[in-house]
Amino acid sequence: MTDDYAADDYAAATQLAHDDAFPSGAVVPPIYQTSLFTFANYAEMEAAFSGQIQRPIYSRGNNPTVQEFERKIAALEGAEAARGTASGMAAISSAVLSIAGAGDRILCTRHVYGDAYRFFEKLLPRVGVTVDYVDAGDLAAVEAALPGAKLLYLENPTSMVFDLQEIGRLAALAKAHGAATIIDNSWATPLFQQPLKHGVDLVVHSASKYLSGHSDTVAGVIAGSAERIARVNDLTYPYLGGKLSPFEAWLLIRGMRTLPLRMRQHQESGLAIARRLADHSLVTRVLHPVFSNHPGGATLTGHSGLFSFEVDARVDVPRFVDGLRLFKLGVSWGGHESLVIPAQASLRQAQGPNAMSAFGVTPRIVRIAVGLEDTEDLWGDLDRALGASAG
Ligand SMILES: *Cc1c(COP(=O)(O)O)cnc(C)c1O
Repeated sequence: MTDDYAADDYAAATQLAHDDAFPSGAVVPPIYQTSLFTFANYAEMEAAFSGQIQRPIYSRGNNPTVQEFERKIAALEGAEAARGTASGMAAISSAVLSIAGAGDRILCTRHVYGDAYRFFEKLLPRVGVTVDYVDAGDLAAVEAALPGAKLLYLENPTSMVFDLQEIGRLAALAKAHGAATIIDNSWATPLFQQPLKHGVDLVVHSASKYLSGHSDTVAGVIAGSAERIARVNDLTYPYLGGKLSPFEAWLLIRGMRTLPLRMRQHQESGLAIARRLADHSLVTRVLHPVFSNHPGGATLTGHSGLFSFEVDARVDVPRFVDGLRLFKLGVSWGGHESLVIPAQASLRQAQGPNAMSAFGVTPRIVRIAVGLEDTEDLWGDLDRALGASAG
């Protein structure tokens, strides 16, 4: 592995088209489907265990196919290092627990991703970590709540109501209070937001979404400084055991070849549909960062295809989602296919301080993931189903 495309200053599309050189000149990296890597002799074993040489020992720790994926993510995020994980939740739990321990307090943005919320509420109290929620779009509210916090946890934007946060100013505020910052960057992808450049300490992704792009993988990744990732490696990743499999890493490398092309299309169709929905007589508001004048939008250099809208009271939401043909009813997002999910599903799941109802989110909010189908076909589907669902 001699050619280091990541170290060179190439654009994302170029980095994703090329891989580090693998033996035999294969143009696609091999899947190292192996649990362990044997040593040539005792001396090599000693050198590997003492860290004198860097080479894979066991695939729960390192695997060359996974490392190729990690190098690509590090390059895209402008990070010194990255760690592939079994899921977005494995990335979130490994990253959070590498920073917070017994007696620590986390400050988290409201409307956070549902399973991150459940991890915070169900598991963290059992290990002595408490979590408070705040409107992280409000700098003064964050500043008031920060003293004593070990970690500030962000999503810009959040993934159901698309609240924005000024990540640069928040990271600086957190630093001034001795707190670290983690951001879930799944919505924007590193193509449309690079949080580390704005002072955030760790970036986590659900790679199951846009990074995969094909709805055939559940995976995650953590990116940050060499020091922060070393702490993940020393403290959480090998022991929680949520490693990324070589085959999933290979699928991600393959899916990410087209990330720049796909994100351009998601953005184009997403914006066209968001603007038409905003003008639709049966839609009361569209929750999309493009319609917000919150300064948190400044770090976004583009928009993905996931956003929500609130339908008029005349619209029967179950009839609307059942009337759609191209938008399938399902969780997740970021793949080639368009999806719809009513906020009711999340309202039912999230109780307590993260409950959508606590922030005035109504059950008439529907989230859509605009996929890669033809924009006019998608618009036709939405317009027809909306009309047919209004009594
Ligand atoms: C899906 C998702 C996650 C969790 O990722 P998994 O790969 O499903 O574990 C985290 N954050 C956001 C915003 C998500 O949408």
